[in-house]
Amino acid sequence: MIDQLLASMQVVALPLKSKFRGITVREVALLKGPAGWGEFAPFLEYDDAESSTWLLSAIDAATNPAPMAYRGFIKVNATLPALNSAQEIEELLQSFVGCDTVKIKVGENLGEDIVRVARVRALMPKAKLRLDVNGAWSVDQALINLYEIYEEVGPLEYVEQPCATLEELRKLKEKLAFEIKIAGDEVIRKAKDPFAINLQGAVDILMLKVAPLGGITRAREIGAHHKLPIVVSSALDSAVGISYGLQLAASLPTLDYACGLATGQLLSADIAALPLENGELAVRSTSPDADLLAKYAVPVERLTWWKERTKRAFYAGTESEIKARGWHW
Ligand SMILES: [Mg+2]
Repeated sequence: MIDQLLASMQVVALPLKSKFRGITVREVALLKGPAGWGEFAPFLEYDDAESSTWLLSAIDAATNPAPMAYRGFIKVNATLPALNSAQEIEELLQSFVGCDTVKIKVGENLGEDIVRVARVRALMPKAKLRLDVNGAWSVDQALINLYEIYEEVGPLEYVEQPCATLEELRKLKEKLAFEIKIAGDEVIRKAKDPFAINLQGAVDILMLKVAPLGGITRAREIGAHHKLPIVVSSALDSAVGISYGLQLAASLPTLDYACGLATGQLLSADIAALPLENGELAVRSTSPDADLLAKYAVPVERLTWWKERTKRAFYAGTESEIKARGWHW
């Protein structure tokens, strides 16, 4: 299997509009299997064990048909990185056509965070606002910072990972003097075993990201296990990876929140079109455009690097999981 997988692999480097997660270019490996295209794009600093679930996701997509869909369009939110320039914020928000929900990255600097959130509120007075802290705050910082932000902009839809650990999230929920929902992201996707954790009293909403959780099949199993409302989100995927997020979101019987799947707007180029209309994306299987694959292809040394990485990830966990699941290429 690994040889066929590597033979079909192509790698592109997609430029970002502005810095996100400290990067300006997103490298994405794509491979083709019997059911279509798979995307393998763990961030460069991730080790082989962590990358092995991302590879499982790519192989799931390339091997297995998409699950049954309950809906053909998915409502999505705008995603705002930790930008501070008023002009950049306005331009980026305008690109999320029709979105009435904005997820704002915060956590590095409270003063800047408040200005950023207030700018979004001023530009979109009726929008639902959510914050993503990426676990940066202690419980005490979260209590103070959430209160200050609340005073500035009013109620938030929810806050994602205000603190890093489940214990801290639980403590924060106990101490909060006002109602605010907490979404869990890193506590689920970075857990050694996402089925073994107890989210009770700590997390109200489950973030499901297809690639880090090992694909649509496994993400659906994790969602069914925890029985919480779900927001499907991307990991700065290309249009191919986003299409699995859309398929996962479409397969859920209930979907009460806008999904974080419009992150294609953060890229200044992609390998396929994914038109955002009225704040929604259409659910469909997506193949990369051959001309765009060629245009954004990485130099041969990078392709070799990705192939080596794929091999290591495969033997670091993907192979055994595929065998256990009985998947065939
Ligand atoms: Mg997050």
